[in-house]
Amino acid sequence: MQNIFHASRFRFVRSIQFCFSIAVVLGLGGFARGAEGQASPTGGAPIRALIITDGCCHNYQFQSRALTNAISAQIPVEWTVVHEGGNGTRAMIPLYDDPNWASKYDIVIHNECFADTTDENYIRRITQAHFNGVPAIVIHCAMHTYRAAQIDDWREFLGVTSRRHDHQSSYPVKAAAKDHPIMNGFPAVWTSPKDELYVIEKLWPSAKALATSVSERDGKEYPVAWVNQYGGARVFGTTFGHSDDTFRDPVFLNTVARGFRWAVGRLND
Ligand SMILES: [Zn+2]
Repeated sequence: MQNIFHASRFRFVRSIQFCFSIAVVLGLGGFARGAEGQASPTGGAPIRALIITDGCCHNYQFQSRALTNAISAQIPVEWTVVHEGGNGTRAMIPLYDDPNWASKYDIVIHNECFADTTDENYIRRITQAHFNGVPAIVIHCAMHTYRAAQIDDWREFLGVTSRRHDHQSSYPVKAAAKDHPIMNGFPAVWTSPKDELYVIEKLWPSAKALATSVSERDGKEYPVAWVNQYGGARVFGTTFGHSDDTFRDPVFLNTVARGFRWAVGRLND
């Protein structure tokens, strides 16, 4: 019991610290008026966004700060961050107990990393909310979350099937869909910060690659950014996002921010 208490308290403290940092971000960003429902820099209502994050192998607190900063610099957002589950590979967070878990949000960013969680009812409660129309952003280890599950629902939602990744390197990135609005302004030449290249076994028929990189191991070209249509939801995904340096890279952050705006239909704001 003592361990559970300590774990809960630790999560609580982390949440408080993070809420504080978000409040600071919103204040410094000058979006307080937008958050109160008044005039915003783009003239639109604030987007209600949920970030779900935690799990194995990455600096999720830093990543959430970088994402909220970068996206809030482009469009007003009311952020909710659920940072739960611990740093293992198997967790089932209480948020998803409610089948209507996503109903209060305009978009969900999945940045959770629990590869060995396999409960099919749990996974289908997550995907069903998106199938019903809630857009999503999926980042890096979200592609290996629920990797051990037998069902394909999560992979169909993502738009890609991936079960492993290549070593860390700086990967040259090629725009595969230059005409897609998300890619407007994407540099002709961009090399990723040191990151992992995820091996994509399958790009689902509902998905379209936006950018690709070539494996230094097998010489094959794999999508590193894409869009997907899952039921009523637009989904934007990227397999980059391992290192802090990636979350400091303006091209990466701008592409995710544009993907976010596209997914909620606010790219032209
Ligand atoms: Zn990683």
